[in-house]
Amino acid sequence: MGEDGTGLKGGGGSGRERGGLPSGAARSRIPRGRQVQKTLNNLKITVLCGFVTILVLRGTIGVGNLGGSSPAEAEAEAEAEAKVVEDIERILREIRSDSDPDDDDDDRRLLQSTSPLNSTSASAANYTLGPKISDWDEQRRVWLSRNPGFPRRTAAGKPRILLVTGSPPNPCDNPIGDHYLLKATKNKIDYCRLHGIEIVYNMAHLDRELAGYWAKLPLIRRLMLSHPEVEWIWWMDSDALFTDLAFEIPLSRYDKHNLVIHGYPDLLFEKHSWIALNTGSFLLRNCQWSLDLLDAWAPMGPKGPIRDEAGRVLTASLEGRPAFEADDQSALIYLLVSQQDRWVAKLFVENSYYLHGFWAGLVDKYEDMMAKHHPGLGDERWPFVTHFVGCKPCGSYGDYPVERCLTSMERAFNFADNQVLRLYGFAHKALSSPKIRRIRNQSTNPLEVKESLNLRTRTITPP
Ligand code: UDP
Ligand code: MN
Repeated sequence: MGEDGTGLKGGGGSGRERGGLPSGAARSRIPRGRQVQKTLNNLKITVLCGFVTILVLRGTIGVGNLGGSSPAEAEAEAEAEAKVVEDIERILREIRSDSDPDDDDDDRRLLQSTSPLNSTSASAANYTLGPKISDWDEQRRVWLSRNPGFPRRTAAGKPRILLVTGSPPNPCDNPIGDHYLLKATKNKIDYCRLHGIEIVYNMAHLDRELAGYWAKLPLIRRLMLSHPEVEWIWWMDSDALFTDLAFEIPLSRYDKHNLVIHGYPDLLFEKHSWIALNTGSFLLRNCQWSLDLLDAWAPMGPKGPIRDEAGRVLTASLEGRPAFEADDQSALIYLLVSQQDRWVAKLFVENSYYLHGFWAGLVDKYEDMMAKHHPGLGDERWPFVTHFVGCKPCGSYGDYPVERCLTSMERAFNFADNQVLRLYGFAHKALSSPKIRRIRNQSTNPLEVKESLNLRTRTITPP
């Protein structure tokens, strides 16, 4: 159970309203100007890369010291370095201040042109993710029969899964945020590699109206349509880590369902709680039902007055929800509760393992888990996913102290990484440390050792 008593989601602070994303609403919309600006930005990034290369070269081969340098030269060098640092900071500031691209207006009009409900502003009622598709199951079936080289099952006979994740287009507010995005990405690549799952990392806002936590909706729709061979799209937040590298989703359990999400049915259907489900990690089947769900889910998302007004409706309707703009999680809960007849038959609310696990209740128990249990369990004994809800490592305003979030993320990363490193004979010196130590002697028969290695074994034997 999490420290807020729900075991689900951060209860402190004011919720998810502070996404750490620069607001793009106030930007002017001049496509040509934007193009020039973009070109300039590209140029700046090229120059920045050049500077960084020079700095690295100087650091590694000591270019500046080759001929020995006089005090005057040293001073000039120091000045030049200060200038480089200043330039990097200025360029980063400019990239960050560059809000969502507006130059996709034309693309959006093109995409929407077959829809009679076409509009870029107006109300939630006429917002669409794209042209209405009504026969996707049939289109997909025909495509699959014509493309036997792209089967919906893997060579191992499992339904094809595409893990989808992503982060904002711009650098994080603080460089440490980018470092943890990289670690979280490495963690996902490891899990996917070990289990034959394909992975997509997205940093673009495919629909400029749906920035922030809403960005996953247009992305999932686009990926379903572009990858008819994929049976399940599995969305996972950037701030969620795989902490059980051996556990596999029990897909056969979901044969008759289209949406699999972590949560609690009583909180959903009786309490209408805003934390009844968590949209940080869920599976959506590639089918017409899912396209319909996305269409019904998206209209509260367009940023500005629609999202703000929808936020008021959600706060009034859902238990425990603080006042802030509409978020994708509350909107999904609201939709499922208010249209139960339409959606519930194909919904699977999972809580027998941590498809999403709230970090605050888990991270301090890793040592205990390592002493008593082993990977492959996926539940509170060895949580499948640890999700840093409310930490906003890439933004500036989380609901928890930054220090506590970062220390906890480091622990979760190393707890998971030990399960990977073990395969190569290493382990982290401690869960708090990026440093590693050897845990096995090297062998002249490496393949014999490989035979005995098993992801389900305890990472480090307790003392
Ligand atoms: N996200 C994205 N693009 C963006 C902003 C967010 O893809 O521009 C994704 C990112 O993976 C992030 C997720 O949306 O993890 C949801 O946001 P967050 O994790 O900050 O919300 P929380 O889990 O704290 O409620
Ligand atoms: Mn998250």
